[in-house]
Amino acid sequence: MKGVVRLVKIATTWLCCCSGCHVSVLDLHERLLDLLGDAELVHCPVLMDTKEIPEDVDVVLIEGGIRNEENVEVAEEFRERAEIVVAVGTCACYGGVPGLANLYSNEELLRTVYVETASTENEDGVIPSEDVPELTWRVRPLSDVIDVDYELPGCPPEPDLIADAVTAILDGREPELSTTNLCEE
Ligand code: SF4
Repeated sequence: MKGVVRLVKIATTWLCCCSGCHVSVLDLHERLLDLLGDAELVHCPVLMDTKEIPEDVDVVLIEGGIRNEENVEVAEEFRERAEIVVAVGTCACYGGVPGLANLYSNEELLRTVYVETASTENEDGVIPSEDVPELTWRVRPLSDVIDVDYELPGCPPEPDLIADAVTAILDGREPELSTTNLCEE
């Protein structure tokens, strides 16, 4: 009987982000095909219309930090199901640009967005609360709520940095982070 070769299952997802880190993955172009090689992409919001989190994942790349309770749930669920969690991008690693919201209270943010901006038409001053995930008390990096195995900072990280890191992880090696990819002069 022939042996069964199990494909490595890779997932990506996003939390509080701008999706720029996923665009960086797409910027790999043909190299993305080489990277996936014998792997199976089981979840990826920019390439697949899948909402459910897969049962078993070998490596998940998570873009974005924690801004609301749904972000917490998704992060925790992926942590339970994935062997290796990689935080991709400055938002996931440190909070990034959305972290500037921590200069204000949630009440101030909600009033600004839903009531006080010049373009808002909301005569009754209603701030949506139903079917909207509650904001966490502040924006947090991914590692504040789950164990993260590797962090790839950058806004967004260079495509090659992501590819090299994922290749190393799939080969069972420690990814080498190049400092020149973060702040090149
Ligand atoms: Fe967007 Fe930069 Fe955050 Fe990635 S790190 S989600 S590119 S703001």
